[in-house]
Amino acid sequence: APAIIGQFGENVTMGQLRGALKHLGFYGMIEVALFADVLSLKEALEFDKHVQTDRDFVLTSCCCPIWVGMIKRVYDTLVPHISPSVSPMVACGRGIKRLHPDAKTVFIGPCIAKKAEAKEADIRDAVDAVLTFEELKQIFEATGVDPSEMEDIPSEHSSTSGRIYARTGGVSKSISDTLNRLRPDKPVKIQAMQANGIKECKAFLKDILNNEIKANFYEGMGCLGGCVGGPKAILDVDKGTEFVNKYGAEAEAFTPADNLHVLELLKQLGIDNVEELLGGESAAIFQREF
Ligand code: SF4
Repeated sequence: APAIIGQFGENVTMGQLRGALKHLGFYGMIEVALFADVLSLKEALEFDKHVQTDRDFVLTSCCCPIWVGMIKRVYDTLVPHISPSVSPMVACGRGIKRLHPDAKTVFIGPCIAKKAEAKEADIRDAVDAVLTFEELKQIFEATGVDPSEMEDIPSEHSSTSGRIYARTGGVSKSISDTLNRLRPDKPVKIQAMQANGIKECKAFLKDILNNEIKANFYEGMGCLGGCVGGPKAILDVDKGTEFVNKYGAEAEAFTPADNLHVLELLKQLGIDNVEELLGGESAAIFQREF
């Protein structure tokens, strides 16, 4: 998950984490941020399609199963406003399985709710197991694997956009930046509001139900600070945010629309053009109906 940067040591690189996981026996490691990039493209196009007037709005479905679950269970009249996309975890699992049909996929993140999300009936094909950062730390300790001593096997192809999904406001910023890149002339720009933690998520949804609509793009995160504040993160939320922002700033590409690696990945998945992310047959793996 994008929140992993810095969690296993200040100087431990993504490449060393890849090395450590390979040492444990994994075939490889893909940054979920790369598929967060893909979803930024899709969500920007969804926004363009669904938000045409001042009264339209979307509730992003990206990332957080607590937010999506709350809307489905308690505020179900708002379900039609959820954008029809899978989470980056599911997108990544499905992407890997399309390219490597026999692969078993393990998602590693700071989140307990992802364990339940991975078992939801319509998306259970994507991820075979979910480990938390704390569980991975225990595995490293039990096996004597120290990521800081591992070989650096770099493959950092994600953009700033995908990397900052891990902290509150990151999803909104990513999709807004991507929309501005894809549709610079769209008159209705993203006006985002973020709910930080369950209490704010509830307050947001109540306001919307009371017709107090103050934004056209709502991002909800069940944990304070977003995933860096997840229950199984190792670092405190401020330190985690600092690492995520620094790693985001180091990316070669700012948005996925400028990222040749993302465009090449889409081609490998059978998606020749970004616009095919809306309704294209090969892009159905990123679609979810709520
Ligand atoms: S915000 Fe919290 S509950 Fe939501 S996906 Fe991130 S870690 Fe999980």
